[in-house]
Amino acid sequence: MASGNGKMVRGTAEWAVATVDGGIGCPHGCRYCYARAKQADSPEMAEPEAWKTFRADRQAVRRRYPLYPGQVMFPAHHDIVPDNLDACLAILTSLLAAGNRVLVVSKPHRSCIETICRELAPFREQLLFRFTITARNDAILRIWEPHAPAYSERRGSLEFAFRQGFATSVSIEPMLDSGDVVAMVEELLPFVTHSIWIGKMNRIRERVTCGSPEMEREIARIERGQDDARIREIYRQLRELPAIRWKESIKTVVGLDPAAEPGLDM
Ligand code: SF4
Repeated sequence: MASGNGKMVRGTAEWAVATVDGGIGCPHGCRYCYARAKQADSPEMAEPEAWKTFRADRQAVRRRYPLYPGQVMFPAHHDIVPDNLDACLAILTSLLAAGNRVLVVSKPHRSCIETICRELAPFREQLLFRFTITARNDAILRIWEPHAPAYSERRGSLEFAFRQGFATSVSIEPMLDSGDVVAMVEELLPFVTHSIWIGKMNRIRERVTCGSPEMEREIARIERGQDDARIREIYRQLRELPAIRWKESIKTVVGLDPAAEPGLDM
């Protein structure tokens, strides 16, 4: 099934009708970064070294945002980090003041989440956090997301936002340790009010640079962990949990219909 305009609903469209960014570039250095891979028009930005530096888009930061016809995702092509927190807060405030429902997606830094919760408390009902937590094993996280917060900081940020009364959700996409996904879901579920999305690593061989035998082994481990048999087993174990949502990469394996239209977030 496709959306009304004939396009398959996948990626960020599964979550939001529009995405907003405050700039481009991200210090987290994820090896599978889809946002970096999309920089076909500016190949220099697609280089890992250049991508590490966030470049603010002043117009985006100062803009007065309109009311969108559904949930808006922020950010989509960078992350919220201490260095760009002020710019991110300015954009979030503008989006929320316009009445938007905003999905805040991040590999969360605890200090940033504390500030956002404090500064945006008046908009609590319009904001949904989605923290990307791809594995519990920090050794795996250091390989794939070398400069992003460790598991304990991400889980702590989730618990903090939950205790502050915000709506919370998790994205386990891409699964970096598929054998531990069910246990991780059980650990995070008490702090989730909305949903836990699960998805595969897409287009691995295209996006991930394999520069060493160690990396080749890691890529092969990810591929084994998301083969059809493993995906069906994860689906079997988690399908009854109401909070679980399956990204399009998994729906196609287990035979579920894709989202009918963009931004449903379900
Ligand atoms: S946190 Fe997101 S934008 Fe930043 S490097 Fe990782 S995947 Fe790319």
